[in-house]
Amino acid sequence: MRILLRNAHILTMDDQYTEYPDGYLLTDGDRIVSLGEGKPSFTADETIDCQGGILLPGFVNVHCHASMVPFRTMGDDCPDRLRRFLFPLENEAMTGELVYLGALFGIAEMLLAGVTTFVDMYYFEEQVARACLEAGMRGYLGETVISQATPDSPVENGGLQLVEEMLKTYPHHDLIRPVVAPHGTTTVSEDTLRACGDLAQKYGAMLTLHVSEMDYEMQYFAERGQTPIQYLDGLGLCNERLLAAHCIHATAEDIALLKLRNARVAHCIGSNTKAGKGVAPIREIAAAGIPYGLGTDGPSSGNTLSLFDQMRLFAVCHKTKNHNRALFPAREIVRAATRGGAEALGAGSEFGMLLPGMKADLTVVSLDKPHLFPVFNPYSTLVYGANASDVSMVMTGGVIRVKDGQLTGLDINRLRHELAGVMGPFRRAATRYADVI
Ligand SMILES: [Zn+2]
Repeated sequence: MRILLRNAHILTMDDQYTEYPDGYLLTDGDRIVSLGEGKPSFTADETIDCQGGILLPGFVNVHCHASMVPFRTMGDDCPDRLRRFLFPLENEAMTGELVYLGALFGIAEMLLAGVTTFVDMYYFEEQVARACLEAGMRGYLGETVISQATPDSPVENGGLQLVEEMLKTYPHHDLIRPVVAPHGTTTVSEDTLRACGDLAQKYGAMLTLHVSEMDYEMQYFAERGQTPIQYLDGLGLCNERLLAAHCIHATAEDIALLKLRNARVAHCIGSNTKAGKGVAPIREIAAAGIPYGLGTDGPSSGNTLSLFDQMRLFAVCHKTKNHNRALFPAREIVRAATRGGAEALGAGSEFGMLLPGMKADLTVVSLDKPHLFPVFNPYSTLVYGANASDVSMVMTGGVIRVKDGQLTGLDINRLRHELAGVMGPFRRAATRYADVI
């Protein structure tokens, strides 16, 4: 099927930041085959008038726990909530069905916000794969490996076996890319972290985990005379397969090590600053040439799964931290949310740019609303003005998933109803933590 998008302001996000202010783009199957300026002469099976909207690569959300939708707004201002109620409540009340419906709802929210690829880390991850297939979403999916009992494993480290099952189930799938996801540096035993590294190497898979995030994590390693990143390096996990999430407290030596080992970084500015944890040294990470992308974190950490929110927070936090308005111009921030994310996944030649031969993963942002007029700089419009609700069209793999701002294959109201319907036992279990949530 050939789909022609016309009358769009195209941001290709290529090396030169090439733009086509009155552009067209043609897809054939799951690929982009042609794009340029003006009125194209070729025909297509479907033609869409973008009405002057901004057409850019789909956003890449490099760190998420999509199925945690039921936790949204629970204990938002509660310190140490991971150990105080998140872990226990998950073990009491998280089920495969809740994970599936939570993921589908989260994916629907992401598609409506122009996200076309996300990295996930959770339990019952095969249910997240099921949701991705149903929604047509590209997912890098990691079953959590953790040295404690989990909702889907009564024994500690049970995730290892589940990860390997997913790696075998989806060896070369277009949409589903299994990844190895140990939870963090202090929540997984040393032997198990090594086993995760072996598994990632055996299957050529990405490995992602929370690192240099928690104060107690930093204190634990400081008492041992090293940093979490140095510890991972000692275990052989700091390499080109590593996507290190957070890195809030990465030192200059850590950054040099990440660069030396060709590792990548997932930056979650919204979740990090809401928790008061700090602002990661992204200026230094970017200057070192380390690929990095933006992540929303889960809906209970970042609240929305929209990269518009992350882009705006990225701008204000890093400019403020460095007392430098000129730092990270808007187009660099749009790059981080699209092409940067793809590069952080090692997929920079597959998606993240609008070029012939790339996957047709793309987003159109309507400029109809008053808060987006006028447009002197489309990158500024996206970073400082636009919201998820301005997304009008989204395509993953050449298939239209959002049209006129509405999901084409999912009914969001029905999904909300179904999710609410299975949340009963979860809500009842949550009352036990009423004093903190
Ligand atoms: Zn996380």
